[in-house]
Amino acid sequence: MPGGMARLAERFRNLWHLPAVVLGLILLPGTVAAFPAQGVEATAVRLLDNGKTTTFELTISKGLTAQVYTLANPYRVILDLPNLAFHLDPAAGQKGRGVVSAFRYGLFAAHKARVVIDTTGPVRIASAGMTRIPGSRALKLAIVLAPMDVAAFGAGTGAALAAASPADIPRNSAPPEKADRKHKGHAKPVIVIDPGHGGIDPGAIGANNVPEKSIVLAVALQLREALQNTHRYEVKMTRKDDVFVSLDDRLKYSADNDADLFISLHADSIEQKKLSDSVRGATIYTLSSRASDEQARVMAEKENASDLIAGVNSVDEGSGEEVKNILIDLLKRETSNFSADFSHVLTKKLGQSITLARIPQKSAAFKVLKQTHAPSVLIELGYMSNASEEHEMMTVAWQSKVAQAIASAVNVYFKKRTVANP
Ligand SMILES: [Zn+2]
Repeated sequence: MPGGMARLAERFRNLWHLPAVVLGLILLPGTVAAFPAQGVEATAVRLLDNGKTTTFELTISKGLTAQVYTLANPYRVILDLPNLAFHLDPAAGQKGRGVVSAFRYGLFAAHKARVVIDTTGPVRIASAGMTRIPGSRALKLAIVLAPMDVAAFGAGTGAALAAASPADIPRNSAPPEKADRKHKGHAKPVIVIDPGHGGIDPGAIGANNVPEKSIVLAVALQLREALQNTHRYEVKMTRKDDVFVSLDDRLKYSADNDADLFISLHADSIEQKKLSDSVRGATIYTLSSRASDEQARVMAEKENASDLIAGVNSVDEGSGEEVKNILIDLLKRETSNFSADFSHVLTKKLGQSITLARIPQKSAAFKVLKQTHAPSVLIELGYMSNASEEHEMMTVAWQSKVAQAIASAVNVYFKKRTVANP
């Protein structure tokens, strides 16, 4: 086996050792159709526990076909569903019960929804099924989970299923723009805006229960408008709505569109309640194999976990050889110098407009920044754990201020580059 393959296999083993799958096809008795009629809604969700088993119960408006299976590292239960609109309490899933520590739900790809249930340890799916609610078309989808020991959680794996998506799912709308291959030297510089998270992956949850994915999308849409208004750039977005896009797909999208600049938008949150009122401000990150400080390393780890959170098998740990090789390549291509240039301009422009963090420029091994073709930055716009900052971030006025500042940094950056490379 060639070295690369061996390494890859090794990584798979590390990620999926002790894999187990319980694959059940939940079918409403008598239902043949694999896909439901349009407009299925999830209207309620709850967790029940009797000390022996924990039941995840979802109320849905019509019957559908679903798949449920378990994954290890970390232990999770994945419920894959066709297109489904979630009308649930936004705070649902943050508190666990029994063997369930938390759960998330959302669009995983166009026309595909997913629920990821985090468990406290290895579990087996004791039963899964749907029952009709008397006197209504609605149904209760119930998944009964029971704890099991690590040794028994042995054979088979759901990894193949998890890995089969979302890249293999035919997309109708996401990523929104079909990549039309271009070559460097296009008439207008191509700017790819990358709103972090989306769909099943909410990102950080703020002090007011607002998910990071919503704030970064709002800013991204404003930034697109600000850049388009200059008529100087071709502006692309890795996502335009509330849908999950894997980190690999974001990288691929940037490469396929031959981006001249890649801007990833995120918002930060800290766990320590004591500090949540005092820590605020934006941070601008560039790629490095070694994090500029411990906080930056933790940040990159958190953001790199996006695929894991969505139940996607991720074989890249976000550091090591691969990053080093990319960094060597980056140095050759001067792309990292351009990233640093843009980061400087951006820090200045953002600083004139919004609060910056105490150390506003940092670097770490963010997977989404690992691209050889385009200078790239990742902006943590502010701290959603700070109630007053989050409140500000939710306003259109703040979002447009940020968008204008980033757009003017883009203008300065490209003016400089045009002068330098006529
Ligand atoms: Zn994020």
